[in-house]
Amino acid sequence: MLPSDGRFGSGPSKFRPAAAQALADRAVDYLGTSHRKAGVRRVVAQLKTGIADLLGAPDGYEVVMGNGGATAFWDAASFGLIERRSHHLSLGEFSSKFVAVTASAPHLDEPSVRVGDFGTCPPLEATDGVDAYCYPHNETSTGVMLEVRRPAGDDEALVLVDATSAAGGLRFDPSGCDVYYFAPQKALSSDGGLWIALMSPAAIERIERLSASGRWTPAFLDLKLAVDNSRKDQTYNTPALATVFLTVSQVDWLNGNGGLEWAAGRSDRSADILYGWAEASDIASPFVTDTAIRSRVVGTIDFDDRVSADDISAALRANGIVDTDGYRKLGRNQLRIGMFPAVEPSDIEALTTCIDHIIERLIT
Ligand SMILES: *Cc1c(COP(=O)(O)O)cnc(C)c1O
Repeated sequence: MLPSDGRFGSGPSKFRPAAAQALADRAVDYLGTSHRKAGVRRVVAQLKTGIADLLGAPDGYEVVMGNGGATAFWDAASFGLIERRSHHLSLGEFSSKFVAVTASAPHLDEPSVRVGDFGTCPPLEATDGVDAYCYPHNETSTGVMLEVRRPAGDDEALVLVDATSAAGGLRFDPSGCDVYYFAPQKALSSDGGLWIALMSPAAIERIERLSASGRWTPAFLDLKLAVDNSRKDQTYNTPALATVFLTVSQVDWLNGNGGLEWAAGRSDRSADILYGWAEASDIASPFVTDTAIRSRVVGTIDFDDRVSADDISAALRANGIVDTDGYRKLGRNQLRIGMFPAVEPSDIEALTTCIDHIIERLIT
């Protein structure tokens, strides 16, 4: 009854054991060698071209990277991409954290914010006096996915999309935004510590202009330094070489099997299985009621009060099926399931069988 792999976390997420094995095979000629030398820089270059291929980078777009994950990128964006005032869609934990960054930045005006209830998504609308629109492609805390696009009626401002739990798992139009940024430990099933961003020419131009404007910026968060180093297949300071390698490994695996369309198709199959099961169940139901925004990569499932989701996830964990817990701050009787491309759709099927099995025993 058990799935072949018990990792269903929404981040860090399951990475393929073959990727870890490939890393072990490079233990003596890659790990522990200089990130300024050809051996590592070749892998960084592979990461850049692999990401550009996977995401279908339009002409002129560049892959830029740096250290610190998506959280560091929010701080970097507040210095290097947002000129005066940002507009945010805030619909859960991660999108609201970016709001907290721009709201507290002394060099920026108070951000404009459209807040949506958990499980829903506020509309993206052109807003006067803002120079950057910010929203997630997938809000990991609630399991809501958005369309990547520009607001109708504003072609001037930049569009910054947090794709940490989406990149490599959800289809999108890359020309619909200027910066598509992510950390690779969620949808890309690698490890943490890095941020990667696909940037449009307009985004690079903004970075160069703000850098030349003399705004004080901590060097670690300086996107101009990140662009300059990325062009040389390096990062400003030492990256986690293992994370870089694991990311390349996952990107190559996805590209080798058919790219984003193939990857998104796997997540689609998993999502159809999970939501189909929940809809047919008389005790479980999908939390996100609007199917158009119901995430294909992070599934949130509510349970009625005959059973405790915490008890279900504890029983799953006792059997080696881990990280199915709902997002704490949502405070719901809920499980949250990572359905990233690395996860086998047949394992999602096995997971639902296990949950039914546990429920039968919990409610009698
Ligand atoms: C996890 C997550 C982050 C934070 O990523 P870190 O690498 O831990 O900084 C940001 N945004 C989204 C949408 C996430 O899911």
